[in-house]
Amino acid sequence: MERSNLKISIGHLYPKQLNLYGDMGNIITLKKRCEWRGIDVDYHEINLDDNILESDLYFIGGGQDKEQIEVSKAMYSQKDFLTAQRDKGAVFLGICGGYQLLGHYYQPFEGERLFGVSLLDAYTVAGKKRFIGNVTAESDFLAPNTLVGFENHSGLTYLQNDTKPLAFVTVGNGNNGKDKTEGARYKNVFGTYLHGSLLPKNPHLADYLISLALDKRYNDKIQLKKLDDKIEYSAHNSVIGKAY
Ligand code: GLN
Repeated sequence: MERSNLKISIGHLYPKQLNLYGDMGNIITLKKRCEWRGIDVDYHEINLDDNILESDLYFIGGGQDKEQIEVSKAMYSQKDFLTAQRDKGAVFLGICGGYQLLGHYYQPFEGERLFGVSLLDAYTVAGKKRFIGNVTAESDFLAPNTLVGFENHSGLTYLQNDTKPLAFVTVGNGNNGKDKTEGARYKNVFGTYLHGSLLPKNPHLADYLISLALDKRYNDKIQLKKLDDKIEYSAHNSVIGKAY
C-alpha cells in the first residue's frame, strides 16, 4: 500500500576507507530512487572513531587490504550492536572488502587475520589469483533475476549453514571461482563482489533493499511507485553475458 511522508535512514560505514571503483554510486542510487518517490533519506557517515547509530539500512564499500585493517578494528569493537541491528531487521549491503568484513574473518595473503562482525556465516581467505572482470549472476528472489557488475578481488569467500548465496554466476568468478556462488544473504544482510557500482545497473536490487528498509521502519509492506528504468536496464543488458 502507498503511504506519504515516508523516510529511511542510511548509515554509510567507513566511506573514507572503503569506497573502491565508484561504490559511492550505490549510495547515490539509493538516495535518488527514494527522492524520486518522495521518500526522505536521513544519510549519515560513520567514521573510524564514531559510535555506529541505529539505521534502517547500512552500506559498506570495498577497499584494499590496508584500509580493511583499520575498518576491521573499528567495526569489530561494535559487533554486538551490529548483530542486534541485524536481528531487528536492519538491511546491510556490503561490497567486496566490506562484504568480507561482514563475515567471520578475512585472512590476507600476508599478515594478521582481519576479524569481521559475523553478520554472515562466511569466511574469506586470500587466493593467489586476482579475479578481475565483468560478472553476470542469476538470483532466485529478484525480477529480473540477473545481476551484473565488475569484480576485482583476490579473496575467496566460502558460505556456511544458513547463509545462502545472493546469486549464482553464469559469467565471472563470484565468491571463489569454484562453487559458482556470488555474494551472500542472511536475514536482511547482503554481501557481493559486484562493484560497478552495483545498484545503478541493478535497479531491481536497489528497490528490493529500499522496500526491506521501509518494511523494517514501518513494520508494513509498502508498495514502491514504479520508475522509468529504461536507461538503467539498457546499461544492465549491455553487460549481461560479457566477460570483459
Ligand atoms: N582486499 C580485498 C581483496 O582483494 C577486497 C578488494 C576489494 O574490495 N575490491 O579480496
